[in-house]
Amino acid sequence: MINAVAMYTQLKYKCMNCDTKFIVCTETPELWSSNSTTCPDCSNVGDFIIWSESKYGEITQDVPGAGDLISISPQVQNSYGQEK
Ligand SMILES: [Zn+2]
Repeated sequence: MINAVAMYTQLKYKCMNCDTKFIVCTETPELWSSNSTTCPDCSNVGDFIIWSESKYGEITQDVPGAGDLISISPQVQNSYGQEK
């Protein structure tokens, strides 16, 4: 019996301008490149070292995973409205 195993890719970036490290979790790593990524700290585009790691499981196990919600955009708040 063959079981399908969920996998996704973590793209691990190191910004060569400000030294920030960040991870992009994606099921379409082929759509990402240095020239299409913006550093969240300094807005650098195109000057990164990038590593790729295949991960077992679903992205939602890591994002949000066990993370505490600290911010939600007004657009998302408006789309859900106030439920009672
Ligand atoms: Zn940067």
